[in-house]
Amino acid sequence: MAEDKTEDSRAPRSDDLKRYIEYLQKQIMVEGTGDFFEGQTAEEWVSDTSNRTERFSNSKYFNGPAVSQYISDIAERFIAKTRFETPMTAALFGNTLAEVRSASETMFKPVRQIELLTATSSTCSPSAFPTNDIHLLFIGAGTASYCNYWAKAYTAVLHAISVASPHPIKSIEDMASVFDHNDSGLLLAGKLAIHYAFFNTALGFGRIDQSDDYLPTRNALLNSIETFVIAHEFAHFIAHEHFPQFSGSLSTDESKALESCCDEIGLSISRLAGMRSGNPYNFDGMGALAFYYSVKLCEDTRTLLKDLGMIPKELHGRPVRESSHPETAERILLIANALVDMSDPEDKVRIKSLVDEAAVIFGTVSFLVLAMLADGALQRDAEPHQ
Ligand SMILES: [Zn+2]
Repeated sequence: MAEDKTEDSRAPRSDDLKRYIEYLQKQIMVEGTGDFFEGQTAEEWVSDTSNRTERFSNSKYFNGPAVSQYISDIAERFIAKTRFETPMTAALFGNTLAEVRSASETMFKPVRQIELLTATSSTCSPSAFPTNDIHLLFIGAGTASYCNYWAKAYTAVLHAISVASPHPIKSIEDMASVFDHNDSGLLLAGKLAIHYAFFNTALGFGRIDQSDDYLPTRNALLNSIETFVIAHEFAHFIAHEHFPQFSGSLSTDESKALESCCDEIGLSISRLAGMRSGNPYNFDGMGALAFYYSVKLCEDTRTLLKDLGMIPKELHGRPVRESSHPETAERILLIANALVDMSDPEDKVRIKSLVDEAAVIFGTVSFLVLAMLADGALQRDAEPHQ
């Protein structure tokens, strides 16, 4: 068996590869954000991280010594492969990538070595670059902040439901009565969607303080979103190595088929990873649904605000959606159907009702955010001009 050389912090094999990685990092970087993504030294990262974790020190869910040990282990192993690399990348995503790889190997032949690299794009999506040698996975602060903020928003919604409603959520009216009691998650979702619509990133949104009691749900939901996101990228490497129909240059339709294929593979890997780690959100596909519902809400908010003339032209930038990707609504439908299809016969009814409930919960959040924005714009237009 070949030595496992994956996901470690070894330097790239050659200067050529290093130059290629740095070239890609420059390509995906948004103009003007270079300073932000210029790599941190391990010492700077350790001190920055210690300052950030300080405020959790009183939480009953926070194991300070274990976190400090984890941080110093990562910092010690860190080798800056390019000038954009930061140890934060391995700290945030190294374990999840290892879990995804391990879960995938029960279904597919092991894929070749993957270099986990710092993404310099600030959007929510990581980028996979399959090659015939080492595969490259770029992921970073853009994905981390997006997943963290949306996990916070949806956790607040789930918490409000658990307090207000003893029954499964079946209708938009059920959700309306939940939000009558506590609409903090809804408002956070609205603010996040507006921020993303304007800036195409969740970075810079600012600090959100939440009750300590939310932390177990939030961590589980965050883990399930990140696991699906990484499993989807991992599926691109599987497809590259094992499905010859998806190699070489692809037509738009073939690219869309590849994306759908990676969604399905990513979902099955996430489910297995969840079964192993005991995270029910992962096994039930809630991370995948939360991710795509939030993406759809951000896209729809951007479209609405553009239509209303509220986003200045200079912020229009690149479209959020690439034409080589299926519509997000199609991806949500695919995930929902695949979840039921891939469940064991005795679990199908439970999964189907969970998927339906998730559609009402996430769908109502999106509906109400868009309705509030449209309403606000209508009221603004109705105001008499001085
Ligand atoms: Zn993809």
